[in-house]
Amino acid sequence: MGDASGPLVQQLCAIVGPAHVLQGHAELLPYMTDANRAFRGTPLCAVAPGSAAEVAAVVSACRAAGVGFVPRGAGTGLSGGATPGDGEVVISLARLRRIVSVSERSRMAVVEPGGINTHLSRFVAPLGLYYAPDPSSQSACTIGGNVAENSGGAHCLKYGVTTNHVLGLEVVLPDGAIVRTGVLGPRCGGYDLTGLFCGSEGTLGIVTQIAVRLLRRPEAVRTALALFRSVEDAARAVEEVTTSAAVPAAMELMDAHAISAVEKGTYPVGFPDWVGASLLIEFDGLAVGLDDHVQAALDVCQRCGVVEARSAQTPEERGRWWNNRKAAFAAMGRVAPAYYVADGVIPRTALRQVLDQARRIADQEGLWLANVFHAGDGNLHPLLAYDPAQSGQAEAVMEVGSAILAACVYAGGAVSGEHGIGLEKRDELYYYFDEEDIAAQRRVHDALDPADTANPHKLLPRPGRCVEVRRAAWDPRATVAGGGRS
Ligand SMILES: Cc1cc2nc3c(=O)[nH]c(=O)nc-3n(C[C@H](O)[C@H](O)[C@H](O)COP(=O)(O)OP(=O)(O)OC[C@H]3O[C@@H](n4cnc5c(N)ncnc54)[C@H](O)[C@@H]3O)c2cc1C
Repeated sequence: MGDASGPLVQQLCAIVGPAHVLQGHAELLPYMTDANRAFRGTPLCAVAPGSAAEVAAVVSACRAAGVGFVPRGAGTGLSGGATPGDGEVVISLARLRRIVSVSERSRMAVVEPGGINTHLSRFVAPLGLYYAPDPSSQSACTIGGNVAENSGGAHCLKYGVTTNHVLGLEVVLPDGAIVRTGVLGPRCGGYDLTGLFCGSEGTLGIVTQIAVRLLRRPEAVRTALALFRSVEDAARAVEEVTTSAAVPAAMELMDAHAISAVEKGTYPVGFPDWVGASLLIEFDGLAVGLDDHVQAALDVCQRCGVVEARSAQTPEERGRWWNNRKAAFAAMGRVAPAYYVADGVIPRTALRQVLDQARRIADQEGLWLANVFHAGDGNLHPLLAYDPAQSGQAEAVMEVGSAILAACVYAGGAVSGEHGIGLEKRDELYYYFDEEDIAAQRRVHDALDPADTANPHKLLPRPGRCVEVRRAAWDPRATVAGGGRS
């Protein structure tokens, strides 16, 4: 890249204006990682285009110079997706944050990608509408980042993940062409390009506009908090409640370690000392019958050994419980300088088995592990505390995370529920895909990005690692001891 970099930066300044091109170490520091601090790169520069046309011009300039570009929303991603390689160009979507249109009759909004998730729901609240996908990071992350990661959230148990709420997209392809899909396109038909771009992690282009489905606010909401002595009891309750008649809107589990951290954080709720696990259960919908659903769920919890359970008496109490849950990752800062969060998804019937295996794997490596996760849809988030200042600790937690993912796969699950593959889990895809599966995906990638400039090195595994990595999948310990990652 060396020689091309000077002219490229000049060209980018001409496209977006020099005020929107950041260079120099101090200015670029925030762009060197995402929320997964284990990965880091030094970009050539960070640019912030002000329109789709500018995004297209920036992308074209990068391609002509043979320089990779990395789309960036808020940088809250946890798999290294927005982390640049050295010398790449970060394209921040922060200036593209308009809510372009809202149609109450069609229950649809068209938004730019840099808008914050919660801002949309706040904007349409006076119409009695909201945007359902609710990652716990929703007060910071962008809707463009949500689309790229196909993000989930607490209420995705009932409402589905981001892709279920995206009706159309405008995308700048890696060659600079602008395409419009779904309801933003001329008509529907042909391949489902909207579905293809959702979850593609910026490797197929940059999303510059999103048409999203809006939902009518449910007439009523009921929230209950159930406290158990053990994670096993709480996990069994999750399994039993979700097989009983009414599916809750959300079911979130925290174990004792997670609770000890959140109680030191910004939103403590005063959990008793004996609590081994908490379960936040929420139902929403028509008011009629909702109390019966809550009671039925609590009856199941009773059979599974719940010690204490109560329904929120006021919206404030419900708000406190949710703030407590949503601040859980941040609260890890109270117990360790850094944490690493794995993101496996498993059948709910395997919850008890895999939670136990994860604990054993962490214990064997002497690591502090907390569990706080979307239990209703089997999306585990084992959090491993570590100190990045200690040499080798970051690598050690990543190896343990990989071993836990192997346990998820062994139980019939997958290596990502919602945080994406990024740099973090490329090789773990080989736990269940073989070379042919990956080759098919690579052909799709190469059709749209033959020059490999769109978020290079993310999402797809490195070739030739299949056999070694798959062996680790059948023996989770092998990943820890034998280095499933390099
Ligand atoms: C405390 C905390 C809690 C979290 N809770 C959840 C949760 O409950 N559920 C969940 O799913 N995730 C969660 N996350 C992960 C993260 O917030 C989501 O993945 C989120 O969607 C990332 O959005 P972002 O704007 O920060 O994207 P970034 O981190 O900036 O980027 C993420 C990926 O998207 C690509 N990208 C960004 N914008 C675009 C665009 N316009 N076009 C194409 N590609 C683009 C980037 O290149 C990168 O690959 C959590 C993270 C934290 C720190």
